[in-house]
Order: sequence, then structure tokens, then C-alpha cells
Amino acid sequence: MALAQVVSPTFMSRPIKRSRSETIDLVAEKQETVSSRNFWFDDGNVVLRAEQTLFRVHGALLARHSKIFKEMFTVAQPDNSLETTLQSTPVFSLSDTVVDLEQLLFIFYDNVKALDKSDMTYDMAAAMLRLGKKYQIDYLYEEAKIAFRKDYPTSLDDWNPTIAVIPNARRGDMINLAHEISLKTVLPSLYLDFISAYSLSEIIHSGKTIDEPRFTLSIRETMIVGRDRLILYLQEQRVLHLKWIGRNRSYVGCRNPLHCNDYRMGFFESISLWKLNDGSPCNLGPWVERKHSSLCSSCNNQMQEIFNATRAAAWAKLPSFFGLDEWDKLEDEAL
Ligand SMILES: [Zn+2]
Repeated sequence: MALAQVVSPTFMSRPIKRSRSETIDLVAEKQETVSSRNFWFDDGNVVLRAEQTLFRVHGALLARHSKIFKEMFTVAQPDNSLETTLQSTPVFSLSDTVVDLEQLLFIFYDNVKALDKSDMTYDMAAAMLRLGKKYQIDYLYEEAKIAFRKDYPTSLDDWNPTIAVIPNARRGDMINLAHEISLKTVLPSLYLDFISAYSLSEIIHSGKTIDEPRFTLSIRETMIVGRDRLILYLQEQRVLHLKWIGRNRSYVGCRNPLHCNDYRMGFFESISLWKLNDGSPCNLGPWVERKHSSLCSSCNNQMQEIFNATRAAAWAKLPSFFGLDEWDKLEDEAL
């Protein structure tokens, strides 16, 4: 990424005054800026600006983590001819959000406490991915990617939509973030999680009727089409098995065909894979159905095998439902 896209250094051009609350008025900017409560060091030698917040930090520390920051502080030399205030501290305006930059600084300055992998918040994971990529801080990017992939894996064995490594994250924010940084490997399971959690109307009106963000038309279309394909595929599988059951053949090893054949249709129909909750498809979570007390163990096992095989086949097709490359060809954009 060209440096010019990353940063446009600016220098304060007129005196400022700091109030007791450390609010800084930048008259030249005609917008009130505030100094960060957490990152304002008296001996800091650079000021970073994200949105309206100023962070006075140590350039060498940031440069140690990121060559992009290093280049920024080297290439954009402070202009000594300017009567810069703030004790001649150069100011660099960044295009990042306050939340992202603050999370990054927490990791740099407070890393042991901030980077607690067992308690990674969405804000932190998002900042690590976004800024880790932008400022080429590989270890942050990889760390967050691992956490993301734990929640949204490529392997069905790891898929359990009821457990979250990154708690309280809105699914839609993750979808938009994965798009923003081209993290394609997490998209199939993310989409699946979203379309199984919400109704068609909620997918279309996300941002209005549910506490999720708005999506671009392209993302909405992808989810609506993918939802349709998944439902269709699962219903096709259901009909195929129903035809087999309807012929009244017994499963291999059945101990009581006359009895079992009376009950297995009802049990089969209750399997979560083909049940539509308010029209929404199953999330392909692991087997939770309890054994049917009226079926012999062979028939119960057969039902679970049908479930596992159908679930695995649907998972294998999942990326294609959303117009993505197959699992083994799906790649994240390199740093
Ligand atoms: Zn049986």
C-alpha cells in the first residue's frame, strides 16, 4: 500500500490552548478535537489523529511494531519552520477509526493485559485484522484470524454455531469486516450463521428491523441466493430419503422391521436439517436429535448416518451456494 494512502501528515499551524479537561481546540480545523484519555504521554514525540481524537505516543515504539509507521515517521519529517505548538510535536492524521486505533495502542502499550486470547472482544479482533493488515503487523493479523476461524471454520468438524470465541459480536459486522479485508475463508460459515439466524425479511432489511448493520446490495443478494440454494439442496435430500423410506424397505441390521418402519418416517421428518424455522434453514450444527425410543438401535444409527452424510455434503457445497470458490481453493488476501 502506498504511503500516501495510509497517512497525510499535518502539522498544527496555530497555537492551541488546552483546557483543564485536556480538550484541545484546533481553530484552524474548525472542528473540536479531544486528546485521548488513555494515550496522552507528556514525553510522547508524535501525535496521531484518528477522527477527532488525538493520541500523543512514542514513535519508536510504534515503529518497532510496524514498518509502515516507521516509514511514516521517517518520510514525513516535521517542518521546523512552522511554529508548531504542542511542544513541536508533529501530528499525523490517519484514516482509521478512534476505536481501532485505541485498540491497537492498548496492544502496543499494555500487551499482556490487552491481548488476552481467552477474552478477545470484537472491537479488538476487528482492529487487529484491519490495522494489522494496513500497518503490516503480521502477528496481530494472524492472531485475530485464528480467533475468527475458530468461530467460523472451514472444516465441518470445527463448526459449532452455538460456541463463540469472540463473544457478543454481531454477525453482520463480521461479514462486512471479512469483505473489507478479503478474509474469504470465513465467509461461507459466516453467511450460513446469518441466514439461519434471521428470516428472509430480516436479511433484506438488516439495519432497520434487527440490530445488525446494513449490507451492500451485493452481500444481501449473495445471502438471499445462498439461502435459497441451501434450502433447496436440503429439501432435495429429504425427498430422496423419503422416497426410500416410503418403499417400506428396512434398514440393514434392523431388529424389528414391522415396528421400526411405522416410526421412522416421523423421526426422519423431525430431523433438524430439513426443518424450517420461520422459513429459515438449518445452521448445519452437529447432531443434537435424541434417539427415538421406539426405533431399534440400528435404525437410530441409520438416522444419524443420514444426518451426518447430508450435513457433510451440504457443508462441502456451502461456498458454491454463496458464489465462492470451493473450500480448498478459497484463499484470504495475503498481507
Ligand atoms: Zn429398526
